Amino acid sequence: MSAILELDGSSGEGGGQILRTALALSLSTRTPFRVHSIRAKRANPGLQRQHLTCVLAAQAISNATVAGAVLGSRELVFEPGEVRPGDYRFDVGSAGSTCLVAQTILPALWSASASSRLELIGGTHNPAAPCFDFLARAFFPALARFGLRVRGELLRHGFYPKGGGQIVVLVEPAVPRPIEWLDAGAPRRTSARVLLAGLDASIAERERHGIVNHRRFQRAKVSIEAVECDGPGNAVLLEVEREHATELCASIGGRGVRAEIVARHALEAAERWLDADVPVGEHLADQLLLPLALAGGGAFRTLPPTEHTRTNAAVIARFLPVRLELEPEGDRSALVRVVRAVASE
Ligand code: ATP
Repeated sequence: MSAILELDGSSGEGGGQILRTALALSLSTRTPFRVHSIRAKRANPGLQRQHLTCVLAAQAISNATVAGAVLGSRELVFEPGEVRPGDYRFDVGSAGSTCLVAQTILPALWSASASSRLELIGGTHNPAAPCFDFLARAFFPALARFGLRVRGELLRHGFYPKGGGQIVVLVEPAVPRPIEWLDAGAPRRTSARVLLAGLDASIAERERHGIVNHRRFQRAKVSIEAVECDGPGNAVLLEVEREHATELCASIGGRGVRAEIVARHALEAAERWLDADVPVGEHLADQLLLPLALAGGGAFRTLPPTEHTRTNAAVIARFLPVRLELEPEGDRSALVRVVRAVASE
């Protein structure tokens, strides 16, 4: 086993991604790590339910030795064992994001010797996290470009604060290969789904109205879907297809947020992506750094990197012998490239 890596959870953006990326790469490279100041730059620092579930899931699939895995903990020591593929079920125990838990252990499971099935209970449509539809329509298809075969099914929606959603993710063993994903291709189709659970129908109508009255999305097909789940919930899922890329711009409704604003957030994200004329959206960029780095080479074009992306890149470079270059191309886009670090670096 390699020497223990020391990480500072307050570095860069100082949020939960530092921990999730560390867990993912600790499992994939069998490197133990210690992280202090977990989520120090968040209003509620330390391990929250979602982060704790990520730790426990990573422990369960690798028989890891762990210290500090309790709610609120700001320090964690994680020493992974060998990853065992299998049939696993993890319950976040709150509306915390199941999708972030899945993303944390996926790289370890696709590097395993056999397929795995994950069943995850918690939130499926959370603000500030990929929703299930983002995984299914943008993230999994992007993974397929690396030769990675991951599929998912949504069994039940889960919104904040009730949670109770349920997803299943199937992962097949594969080794990621480098990609060059530089061009989004010609525009194709835009469609939107408005999800509504236990709330007044006028909310979905106002969101539909916001979409079809937007000058760029007037021709979008919009469906309104009534959703059965534990609590109230609302989401606008705007899917923009281009010849070589699909972006899913999700905006999740919340108490006190007007329907018009919920729709506008999704519309603005879709416009930013279209204006940048790149295949990879800003959130997908965050999430593709890991397979790109594990592939050991390749590149994609995306929007200008966020602090979140830079922080993630810095954590990855601690675990893997790669250099992640985030090169701005004017002020609308950037090229992300991974190159193998030479021994002297
Ligand atoms: P905290 O920092 O409070 O711990 P967190 O653990 O929930 O929060 P962040 O570190 O903010 O997580 O990371 C959230 C992840 O979710 C990032 O990978 C980000 O790209 C992704 N994400 C956020 N919003 C969206 C969205 N609308 N669509 C897809 N992915 C998203």
